[in-house]
Amino acid sequence: MTIVHNLGFPRIGASRELKFALEPYWKGETSRADLLKSGAALRRRHWQLQAGLDLAPVGDFSFYDHVLDMSFTVGNLPERVQDFHGDPLDNYFRVARGRSAQEHHACCGGVAAGEMTKWFDTNYHYIVPEFTNATTFRLDASRLLEQVAEARQQGVNAKPVIVGPVTYLALGKAKDGSNKLDLLDGLLAVYAQLLDTLAAHGVEWVQVDEPLLVTELDADWQYAFNYAYHQLKVCRVKLLVATYFGQLEENKYLAANLPVAGLHVDAVAGPDDVRPLINVLPPHKVLSLGVINGRNIWKTDLTAVLDWLEPLAQQLGNRLWIAPSCSLLHVPVDLNSEQALDAEIRSWLAFAVQKLDELQVLAKALREGRAAVAAELADNLAALAARRASPRVHNPAVRQAVAQLHADMGRRNSPYAQRAAEQAALLQLPLYPTTTIGSFPQTAEIRHARSAFKAGTLDAAGYQAAMREEIARSVREQEALGLDVLVHGEAERNDMVEYFGEQLEGYAFSQFGWVQSYGSRCVKPPILFGDISRPRAMTVEWTRYAQSLTGKPMKGMLTGPVTILNWSFVRDDQPRSVSCRQLALAIRQEVLDLEQAGVRVIQIDEAALREGLPLRKAQWQHYLDWAVEAFRIAANGVQDRTQIHTHMCYSEFNDIIASIAAMDADVITIETSRSDMELLDAFDHFKYPNEIGPGVYDIHTPNIPSREHIVQLMKKAAERIPVARLWVNPDCGLKTRQWHEVVPALANMVAAARELRLAA
Ligand code: GLN
Ligand code: ZN
Repeated sequence: MTIVHNLGFPRIGASRELKFALEPYWKGETSRADLLKSGAALRRRHWQLQAGLDLAPVGDFSFYDHVLDMSFTVGNLPERVQDFHGDPLDNYFRVARGRSAQEHHACCGGVAAGEMTKWFDTNYHYIVPEFTNATTFRLDASRLLEQVAEARQQGVNAKPVIVGPVTYLALGKAKDGSNKLDLLDGLLAVYAQLLDTLAAHGVEWVQVDEPLLVTELDADWQYAFNYAYHQLKVCRVKLLVATYFGQLEENKYLAANLPVAGLHVDAVAGPDDVRPLINVLPPHKVLSLGVINGRNIWKTDLTAVLDWLEPLAQQLGNRLWIAPSCSLLHVPVDLNSEQALDAEIRSWLAFAVQKLDELQVLAKALREGRAAVAAELADNLAALAARRASPRVHNPAVRQAVAQLHADMGRRNSPYAQRAAEQAALLQLPLYPTTTIGSFPQTAEIRHARSAFKAGTLDAAGYQAAMREEIARSVREQEALGLDVLVHGEAERNDMVEYFGEQLEGYAFSQFGWVQSYGSRCVKPPILFGDISRPRAMTVEWTRYAQSLTGKPMKGMLTGPVTILNWSFVRDDQPRSVSCRQLALAIRQEVLDLEQAGVRVIQIDEAALREGLPLRKAQWQHYLDWAVEAFRIAANGVQDRTQIHTHMCYSEFNDIIASIAAMDADVITIETSRSDMELLDAFDHFKYPNEIGPGVYDIHTPNIPSREHIVQLMKKAAERIPVARLWVNPDCGLKTRQWHEVVPALANMVAAARELRLAA
């Protein structure tokens, strides 16, 4: 009989209950007991929602992050919190969130938060484990044991889930530059203890997540996998090594032959990888196939999956398990919450709860034959057919326009040097021109006006007036500060993707489609369901208004096609690159409308370009090629005199500098202030030809950079980039800051630029 299981359930709650339990606890408004109770209630509800499974995940729940949970389980706490004597849960949050030195000078003196980074190619962020050559490990199995006991009490057949030792080590950072693999033996000793403890508590199967196996591994790490699982072989539980987010490819043989009882693979990312895998899989092993997509929100084509799966089920018999492709952490909880969503679009979707229902239909079909689920399969087919045929998905005019795009449309008329001369004559900017990245503080007034407008208590005219007032305020402030290229401040934008999605055809918005980004922070990605078109201009009126208030150049502000794509749930019925081209065309139309309206400088943000890079380096270039092409189509249809800016809020360019240069933006602003300008080396070595604004103000902290500090940073920049091509600006947008922080910081920035000009 095929076993049905799940790799992990979203922990945030259908109405973000976890967020609303954590945040008051952190503010000291609720007790530890309250928080623990909320956690237990969520786990109970989530196990109830998974009641049909043969094996349910346990330990996938987390108060902040499952990688940080693992650090506490193996006793790998950052050195700076090791001698903390208070409540361990409190210490856990100290690592997760840090404590400010100001607020905690009387007690613990404050502590730095653990670094956060993206979990493989998802939008989920984990807390990076910290290692040194002196790191030792000590088991604390309490969290897992408590949750196993809790699950049992509720009649759940518990399968504990842990991050595997090799992936755990690989994701961490050696703070002293030592070789992390030297720690493997010590780490494995604790894993062995943990597995034996779970066995002693009656656990049969443990899911050990090793998504590292879908990436390119060098010989040391291949060896580490073999070594680790040979060490753990003696433990008295059965291990299911879980891989996901991609295909095993050349790691197939390695993964198949680890001495464990079972292997899970992502059959959505790599269906073609499965048969060759079965050929090398030892005949006693369980193979768990992830057949329902755990990364998107579309209904599965159940009939197609069955066509593919039935022969494999014949072949594998009892050795076949089925599951979602990965943990459901990456999708919203329950489609039934979405009562306001358009009914037609809703009929095409499946969130976590619905995905588990789909899994049950597949299991029943495998066990009892398709006739046993004939009605469900017919409904599923009908929904898919309706989606395929819907005129809301297909817009022939868009198809035709996109088919007519050619590479020339992504090419500026003249090379940069010629454009730069024309732009300089038109804009009359000083050396070291100053600007900002786009947004100014989202004040309480802005938020109130927006929620009143959404609630219907403020009419459109009232909302417009309120936003205009905010725009006028930021223009006044910028003029008083003496900035050179101004922005309107983005008061009218709730979010840099949602704002555009709401105005484009082909997008839908959920009410509760929250996905955890990190800790209590969630995002609600818009749903890109159909061909994209732009019925009317999206930003021109606001920009025109802002320009009318000043004689200085006003920068038009747009989000780029690649970023819109990467921060949305995207279609599964066409390649990402095709959706991206459609978005590019829509943004191009907006760019040309802005130019037509007399806007001389236009910024197109590509904050998420880098994070779209595939997990395997071998696939990078293909992605970069279509992503850059999309940007070029969006941006480069303008006249030579129009200055195109782009912005990226990260600082790793080494691997992608050639693609960044190929975008051919006149000016790129990037994040640099924390890296001391060293990242400009990549631009320097590449001989990056256009203008650069290296961020000199770290907007992630309330700290106000001094004039001297900014001057010093810019001098370092000038050692790498010719002065004539340097801009002075913050690292990123200022929307999360307060006006009282922004004004003195920008005043120092402008003063620094003036000092640099005098010295030049
Ligand atoms: N223009 C956006 C802003 O200033 C850019 C934000 C970002 O890069 N994340 O907020
Ligand atoms: Zn940014």
